Amino acid sequence: MTNKDQKKPGRTPFSAMSRRDLLTLGAVTATAVAAPMIIRNGTAKPMGQIIKDNYDTDILVIGSGFAGVFAAVEASTKGQRVLLLDKGSVGWSGLSPWASDSRPFDPTIYDRDEWMENLSTNCEWINDRGWLDIFMDESMNIFETLDSWGVHKCKPFERSKVFLNKLQQAGVEIIERVMVTSLLKDEAGRVGGAVGFTFDDSNDECKSVIVKAKATILCTGAGAYKSPGFPNWGQTFDGDAMAYMAGATITGKEFHDTHGTFSNYPAAAYENWSWAQDVTGAFIMVGAPEKASGGLTIDEALQAAQSGVSRGGHGPGGAGGPPPEMEAMKTSAEKNQSYKGKGFLAREDLILDFGEPPSGPPPKGHINKGYHVGGATSGMGVHKSEGVFNADLSCRADGIKGLYAAGDALGSMLCGSSYPGRGFSSYGSAIQGRIAAQTACADVATLEEATVTDAEIETKVAQMWSPRERDKGYSPSWVTQVLQGAMTPFHILYIKEERRLEGALSSIEYLRKHVVPNLVASNGHELRMAHETASMLLNAEMKLRASLYRTESRGTHFREDYPARNDADWHCWVLLQQGADGAMQLAKHMLPEEWRPDATASYRENYPRAYPGEEAFLAAQGIDVASQS
Ligand SMILES: Cc1cc2nc3c(=O)[nH]c(=O)nc-3n(C[C@H](O)[C@H](O)[C@H](O)COP(=O)(O)OP(=O)(O)OC[C@H]3O[C@@H](n4cnc5c(N)ncnc54)[C@H](O)[C@@H]3O)c2cc1C
Repeated sequence: MTNKDQKKPGRTPFSAMSRRDLLTLGAVTATAVAAPMIIRNGTAKPMGQIIKDNYDTDILVIGSGFAGVFAAVEASTKGQRVLLLDKGSVGWSGLSPWASDSRPFDPTIYDRDEWMENLSTNCEWINDRGWLDIFMDESMNIFETLDSWGVHKCKPFERSKVFLNKLQQAGVEIIERVMVTSLLKDEAGRVGGAVGFTFDDSNDECKSVIVKAKATILCTGAGAYKSPGFPNWGQTFDGDAMAYMAGATITGKEFHDTHGTFSNYPAAAYENWSWAQDVTGAFIMVGAPEKASGGLTIDEALQAAQSGVSRGGHGPGGAGGPPPEMEAMKTSAEKNQSYKGKGFLAREDLILDFGEPPSGPPPKGHINKGYHVGGATSGMGVHKSEGVFNADLSCRADGIKGLYAAGDALGSMLCGSSYPGRGFSSYGSAIQGRIAAQTACADVATLEEATVTDAEIETKVAQMWSPRERDKGYSPSWVTQVLQGAMTPFHILYIKEERRLEGALSSIEYLRKHVVPNLVASNGHELRMAHETASMLLNAEMKLRASLYRTESRGTHFREDYPARNDADWHCWVLLQQGADGAMQLAKHMLPEEWRPDATASYRENYPRAYPGEEAFLAAQGIDVASQS
């Protein structure tokens, strides 16, 4: 807090707190925080009379990354009226603008069984094989579609213009910079649209945006705790939070992204990812996915935790040199030859992104970023694994009529417990966006529409504005910092253990129960932050509970107290749902027997990556990792 902040009218940080309040909150976290804890809201006002913009549409798409664009274009092409809302700008917000590499499955080059086997090994046998089949069927078409749109002639951030153009050509109605906060439901439990607000209030007043829709597709992407060092600050799990509050089931929350950042620029997302804005072309990953490396595995996170640095090795502790896939990249120029005529271009410089030595001249055209250190994404899940649960590959939110999800908002488990390598995400989102739209269009033609009442709308709108009406309360920035303090240390989400998870959970529960109902916003932007903060906290609870529940280790879920895989009990997905009493319920969704690893192979063949302490833990149970599992 600066002196300047203290002088601002209407802001008297801490003064409104009793000594007991301060002591209680001191117990929540010992993190040093810079934002004021309490805001006295000089601009608080009743929001009952705020202007309401009402819309009626067939298909509401929320989010405009790869998933939202493909969903909206598909639904519009099928003759539906489509409204697209985004809290940012088309193709420019969310994760989509950063994606550079893709991995189309070309059946004339690749072996389907090899992909299935390798990816299942890498994702540790809980990847949804149905989604991988669909990916292998559809990804070449996504490549060709993007090519025909002209995407491969531009840099990643320039894609936004192409996306906007395509949406407009398809006749999609677009409203940008609308923060959607909740789904509207009817008395039969069907989803029939959503409410949100325009938050740019420097010139105009904020407005309520109320949309009644026959089908609502969440393409809201993933989330993180507003991480420094990784460009995903705007992503705050809003879709998962809205779906959960509407009664949907959520999955994949115990698996985490392990992207690193760089020691010289840990908080500079642009420096770490500037290369992503400089590349032009259709960059494809060459070869089949690797069985054990080549992706975002727990090894990367463990190296950073154990030695403080990771130097590009691929075994725990950093031994072993560059992983085979990175080595393979060195010959990508040769591989380009074999792709000639297909318009493909393999990346040649990818190895540089895996980590550079801390001294010596940087490679040509690069700055010296220092050591590669882990945990940059702070709380983001494995792409395509965390999100709204759907069991039948249709993108319907299980158990909720009228609601669909696609892309990073869908817990499709395409990548199971570890991200197996670049390229599955952006194309996976595009494929799922299209499928969600196809399912929604078919349902709209046959299913009874939701009948959302005025009372439901009034309730959701009132909840939405409530932080803006309070004259004092907790600052969303402060709460976010406390949340970061509780969730982002390495020993919470990467090196897990029961007591530490319980400790973090107790802080998060406190914040959800006592602080979220008292969040305050003195303008439209703070109101957006208040809702984002509530979404992040709800998701933090999901991550901690799912991590506590799964008493084994698998992929990026590493439990120090259970450092081995346990197929008998945990060959499953963990499902989270709000119970009738409002408490979070957890359940297992057991997976088909035929998805299990080969019973005649050894444990180590089935699970090539070793966790620290794993062999001793298994030996104590009489299991030898070199013998049959
Ligand atoms: C640095 C980086 C590099 C990457 N590299 C690659 C790569 O090389 N290859 C690859 O395949 N993938 C890559 N990915 C991952 C890939 O970009 C994503 O998985 C994919 O683009 C997700 O697309 P999406 O449409 O599902 O979600 P997003 O692109 O995240 O879009 C979500 C949209 O929803 C909007 N939204 C969210 N909440 C709300 C709300 N409450 N109200 C209104 N709107 C809302 C957001 O503003 C955003 O526009 C990378 C990601 C990053 C960050």
